[in-house]
Amino acid sequence: MRELFTFGRYLRAKYGQTIYKIPVSIPGFTCPNIDGTVAVGGCSFCENESFSPNLTVKPKTKFSLKPNSPENPMLDFQLLSLESQFYKTSTKLRKKFKANGFLVYFQSFSNTYAPYETLITLYEKALSLPDVVGISIGTRSDCIDERVLEFLVEKSKQKEIWIEIGVQSIFDETLKRINRGHDFSNIEEAVKRVKNRGLNLCLHLIFGLPDENIEMMRETFGRSIELGADSVKFHPLYVVKNTALANEFRAGKFYPIDEEEYISLICECIERLPENVSVQRVTAGIDDDTLLSPEWCRHKNVQMEKIKTRLKENGIFC
Ligand code: SF4
Repeated sequence: MRELFTFGRYLRAKYGQTIYKIPVSIPGFTCPNIDGTVAVGGCSFCENESFSPNLTVKPKTKFSLKPNSPENPMLDFQLLSLESQFYKTSTKLRKKFKANGFLVYFQSFSNTYAPYETLITLYEKALSLPDVVGISIGTRSDCIDERVLEFLVEKSKQKEIWIEIGVQSIFDETLKRINRGHDFSNIEEAVKRVKNRGLNLCLHLIFGLPDENIEMMRETFGRSIELGADSVKFHPLYVVKNTALANEFRAGKFYPIDEEEYISLICECIERLPENVSVQRVTAGIDDDTLLSPEWCRHKNVQMEKIKTRLKENGIFC
């Protein structure tokens, strides 16, 4: 029997206490796949207002940044928003779990896609917040600037620094099919730049992408490990309203992955994981009226239990 090497266990071993990841969303941040720089509409599964005009009824920022934006009149507001999100969550965590250590997770959109000064100001602010041991930055492979990496390398001498890159699939035909806006060689190149600098790397994988079979998903997992992932996040592809994928699904051009197939594949991947690679997420779900399919993605806790039971049968406890 062996213990699953979760990201939580990695952090606890390193810091001697539980470290809580606090997700933040920076207003005004976007993605080159949404703003028309590399493509329009975004990934086919991504719910964003450029694809769906309906989303404009939701509160949104009128302003969005690009790396070459000449000025950022929103910076003060972004800093305030970052602080307020951090304090709101950390206060709850302190109260509920006596939490005393945090990792700020720049989660929404592409968090290296803004002017350099904006990025480093926001990262510095996050790193200066009380009891923050580090930051984790979610982004795409096609918008990681050298200067930002150099800044993060300097910070990594004192703080925990992670970069999270969406791989999703190693197959160019799939990346094209989902309108990813870059190919796999772009991912390989970005990953090399991150790893060559000794930064921690988490790779995101999606299983159940259009026209992919189980063997292709296995290959995506295997290649991601070869690339040098220090941590992985797995995600089943589900269909939400107001996406290009929803149209494909309604037209009978896309069928989501079956629950049993997903669970078997996840357990197989976890069994194949090298001992030093942690797992940050094994599944995902959404239980609201935006979900179109599959129904099993409504019940994340049920999936988690099934995965835990299957892993236990195979000698791994969570
Ligand atoms: S890279 Fe992320 S934010 Fe950008 S379109 Fe794709 S899923 Fe949406």
